[in-house]
Amino acid sequence: MSRRADVVVVGAGIAGVSAAYELTVTHGIRNVVIVDPRPPLSLTSDKSTECYRNWWPNLPMVGLMSRSIDLLERMAAESGNRFALNRRGYLFVSGDEENFHRMVEDAHHTSTLGAGPVRFHPGPSPYRPSPPEGFIGAPEGADILVGADEVLDHFPYLTPEVVGAIHVRRAGWFSAQQLGAWMLDQGKERGLEFVVDEVAGIGVSAGAIRSVSLAGGGEIATEVVIDAAGPMAGRVAALVDIDLPLFSELHIKVAYRDHMGVVARDAPMVIWSDTQHLDWSIEEREALAEQGRDDLLGEMPIFCHFRPEGGEGSPYLLGLWEYHGLVQEPSWPLPEDPLYPEVVVRGLTTMVPGFDVYRERLPHSVVDGGYYTKTMENRPLVGPAGPTGFNLMAGLSGFGVMVAAGAADLLAKHVTGTELPSYSDAFLLERYDDADYLASIQGPTGQL
Ligand SMILES: Cc1cc2nc3c(=O)[nH]c(=O)nc-3n(C[C@H](O)[C@H](O)[C@H](O)COP(=O)(O)OP(=O)(O)OC[C@H]3O[C@@H](n4cnc5c(N)ncnc54)[C@H](O)[C@@H]3O)c2cc1C
Repeated sequence: MSRRADVVVVGAGIAGVSAAYELTVTHGIRNVVIVDPRPPLSLTSDKSTECYRNWWPNLPMVGLMSRSIDLLERMAAESGNRFALNRRGYLFVSGDEENFHRMVEDAHHTSTLGAGPVRFHPGPSPYRPSPPEGFIGAPEGADILVGADEVLDHFPYLTPEVVGAIHVRRAGWFSAQQLGAWMLDQGKERGLEFVVDEVAGIGVSAGAIRSVSLAGGGEIATEVVIDAAGPMAGRVAALVDIDLPLFSELHIKVAYRDHMGVVARDAPMVIWSDTQHLDWSIEEREALAEQGRDDLLGEMPIFCHFRPEGGEGSPYLLGLWEYHGLVQEPSWPLPEDPLYPEVVVRGLTTMVPGFDVYRERLPHSVVDGGYYTKTMENRPLVGPAGPTGFNLMAGLSGFGVMVAAGAADLLAKHVTGTELPSYSDAFLLERYDDADYLASIQGPTGQL
């Protein structure tokens, strides 16, 4: 069966749903169709930690992310905060003077990019704790807490070995699922349609998009396609002969039942920012070496982190620590690491000694995850590429949930010919045609 659409969005993750919402609700395009064989947000977008921050180390990302957070706050206000956007912040913690000094320098740099002021404590103004729910009236910028006394005064569950912490304030988390459902409802009221199928081909003639064909046999005539296929974005772009510079890293997370109540329920996202060694016993070290788990015996990477999950009465915590470094072609089921819950608890114990109660007997835990599909410098691809009418919203890496609203706003401006923001060129695929830009890339930035 053949039909027509003004825009076909390939993929109903947070990227595709946000793009469809912007085109339909903000720009009034009535005939937008999302195609996905899976239920909305069910591949990667519901496996996320669902956190956001405006705190990024370069100007385009601060610009794009700040816009995204403006839009998230606007949608929260419009929907009666149906997706529980909070602003508890990210707390970066260190027990190493030298590292903390570097973190403070980096914070000054990020502040100069427009991410908000830095305030020192002790200092002229008192530290203001974050409200546990909502975001109105919460501070912006970052609070730098210097010395164990200052940090423990506000976060008593942290290790006395702490030397300082940086509390990034325009940051927190929300329910991506709820946001996605709300955006879909809003879009459907204005004509947005969801087709359960897979895009198997894209018709191009005279250098312009003409149609998409579906694995189920149908075809949709269209002149505009948005590739929002997440880990499969490269495969969809290949249908129009574009080779995307994307790769995918495995990232998993664990949900624990903190039945001993180790952590305050109103905690922010808390991130140990130093490398560390896990304190395995001699017997455990021997057993791990025998199992070929040398990856757990040496220096472990930075950024072991957690946040509370659920409302006031919930005992759940989410824990994450990316120590696998596994880059691979996305495939499911995900590769398993049966030791992950134990390793993350041990890593968290360095930062929160109270987690030691779980050393002998792990709390009940559930592991899931997905892929960070990303570019070499960890900036997304947003905008036109290849044949006329083909557009990318891909490479959303570990920040897709927080950037989707801003990236959709940017993408919809490209599609509708609306005036573009200053950061738009920084996210085009064609940036890689610039040899000077390529030479300036130092590797991924802002990875958590
Ligand atoms: C463990 C983990 C923690 C994370 N934490 C955070 C966080 O705290 N904050 C944050 O902002 N981000 C986080 N992320 C990243 C975030 O989840 C992703 O960037 C985001 O979900 C990507 O969304 P997407 O819509 O691009 O992809 P997906 O959600 O994967 O959606 C892509 C969709 O495209 C569909 N599709 C693919 N091919 C086709 C085709 N040919 N035809 C039709 N449909 C197709 C798929 O079925 C899928 O539904 C995390 C990710 C992981 C794995």
